[in-house]
Amino acid sequence: MTTESPARPGRVDTGARIDKETHIDKDTLRRRYAEERDKRLRPDGNDQYLRLTGELARYLDDPYTPWTERAPRTDHRTVVCVGGGFAGLVTGARLAEAGVDVRIIEKGGGFGGTWYWNRYPGAQCDTASMVYLPLLEETGHMPTEKYVHGPEILAHCQRIGRQFGLYDDVLFHTEVTALTWDEARTRWVIQTSRGDRLTATFVVLGTGPLSVPKLPGSRGSARSGGTRSTPAGGTTTTPAAPQRTFRARRCTSSPISAWASSAPGRPRSSACRICPGTAGSFTCSSGRRHR
Ligand SMILES: Cc1cc2nc3c(=O)[nH]c(=O)nc-3n(C[C@H](O)[C@H](O)[C@H](O)COP(=O)(O)OP(=O)(O)OC[C@H]3O[C@@H](n4cnc5c(N)ncnc54)[C@H](O)[C@@H]3O)c2cc1C
Repeated sequence: MTTESPARPGRVDTGARIDKETHIDKDTLRRRYAEERDKRLRPDGNDQYLRLTGELARYLDDPYTPWTERAPRTDHRTVVCVGGGFAGLVTGARLAEAGVDVRIIEKGGGFGGTWYWNRYPGAQCDTASMVYLPLLEETGHMPTEKYVHGPEILAHCQRIGRQFGLYDDVLFHTEVTALTWDEARTRWVIQTSRGDRLTATFVVLGTGPLSVPKLPGSRGSARSGGTRSTPAGGTTTTPAAPQRTFRARRCTSSPISAWASSAPGRPRSSACRICPGTAGSFTCSSGRRHR
């Protein structure tokens, strides 16, 4: 049995009810959740994280798979998938199954995407495995837990790669750096970090959001040595970074605007915003001097 709670001034009446049997005050509960959420919503958003430039650029390196040299390629595929996570794997698997020549290009040294990069202890999915893991019936894999851990998900990605022959034509440790539409030849020209100049009739972008480590911009976060688990990039042993780079202040340059402004053809931004609350001068991770 429930009863209406009175609307409060300044708030939208959400129709919250107090359950007379369980005595749960849903309105209070909602308010507490909202308060906790608000604590985590910061005006600086993604700016709270350090940009992985300079000394921190090493966190972008792949610690899991040795680098192998190869000659630049110039060949053509009907479909190229950028990214070897779930998106690239499922697209690649279904296209390969349909007989389409498809190639995956992946920055990391293996399939898995999020689950290739994120290997910190205890990482697991929070959507039920049966729903979350793709191509279970096709591969015959039965998840061992309701919320399986990272290594099992990574192994499943590799299973998909093997079963659908995606390893045969993949380019690992290769970052797509430019996509240009060639109108005359009606195909995409794909440039990469390995000097490739490939072409494709169709390009599928499955680049995902969680393959780049986010380092907290908190005091001393990048200064002290030791072992750290990063949201992406796994557990990493960090040697002490020079004090000059991190004087215990947040880098407040927006990674998004910095990225956009440094994109080809766009003027480079010289603006660097400073977080409310920071005072004094310091050098941020972008190398700029804040005053
Ligand atoms: C611990 C953890 C738990 C999660 N649990 C869940 C869950 O339970 N349910 C859920 O829905 N989601 C969950 N996620 C989110 C997860 O990211 C997605 O479910 C999914 O794995 C994303 O797949 P994707 O292929 O879109 O992207 P990704 O897995 O991020 O793969 C993208 C790939 O593209 C590559 N790439 C990027 N740019 C380039 C480039 N320019 N050139 C070449 N390669 C490039 C990257 O290296 C990466 O390997 C979880 C994430 C984490 C970290």
